[in-house]
Amino acid sequence: MDRSNSLAELARRLRAAGRVTILTGAGVSAASGVPTFRGADGLWRHFKPETLATADAFARDPRLVWEWYAWRRELIARCRPNPAHEVIARWSRRPGTVVITQNVDDLHVKADTANLVRLHGSIWALSCFERCPRGITPWLEPEPVPPELPPRCPHCGGHARPAVVWFGEALREADLAAAIAATRCDVFLTVGTSAVVHPAAGLVDVAGRTGAFTAEINAEPTSASGGVQVAIHARAEVALPELDRLVACP
Ligand code: NAD
Ligand code: ZN
Repeated sequence: MDRSNSLAELARRLRAAGRVTILTGAGVSAASGVPTFRGADGLWRHFKPETLATADAFARDPRLVWEWYAWRRELIARCRPNPAHEVIARWSRRPGTVVITQNVDDLHVKADTANLVRLHGSIWALSCFERCPRGITPWLEPEPVPPELPPRCPHCGGHARPAVVWFGEALREADLAAAIAATRCDVFLTVGTSAVVHPAAGLVDVAGRTGAFTAEINAEPTSASGGVQVAIHARAEVALPELDRLVACP
């Protein structure tokens, strides 16, 4: 199917669907100026994210990991939702729609998205690295760059960490349960994700096996492209507004 037929088919499915689930990744925020992990501009001081976003890296050098987060937080603080976030936010208000995001930038929150599952947490929340009893519940840290790096847990004085899910860590049970429940839908659409980080990457297959129509919108082919019914290779901020117009008036 060519691009315009694929978009038309997906629009038809979305119009008829009672339950729609949208899984988003870093590509949705690229047009807002948030760098993706896998891509040309994904480097920071020649470190790979996979070597910084881990509990081991933090235990070894909390200051280095925090400098990277402080850099990302400062950058993200200046970013605004783009048309992809805006379309998804509008669709999210339709009953039966769930948005699952792997993004930690909270741009879906800024765009007022309803029924949002933040599978990998938020870069704006902190929790206690020592997991002291009161530090388990994430708290907000208002400054993009905390006055002292690494910041301290206000409850026990140990190191505070970003309340995000690092490589090798388990997802929060409630978030994972919500994401799995949302695979029971009529249309499952992934947008802007390279589909390599599990378990998020496996959700589209689960949805397909339980009868959902599956589709992907991504700038380039991914490991999910071969398994979905419709794969559209386009930028999210261009394809989603186009799709939105087709859903509204075929
Ligand atoms: P990824 O970086 O692995 O993949 C991003 C995908 O988006 C790539 O396949 C790329 O081709 C595509 N892409 C780039 N620009 C696009 C655009 N304008 N429209 C559509 N697609 C576009 O990201 P991922 O799959 O989300 O996994 C990375 C992990 O890193 C996640 O766990 C996430 O938590 C984290 N992360 C988050 C952010 C964020 O919060 N914005 C940014 C980078 C990484
Ligand atoms: Zn603590």
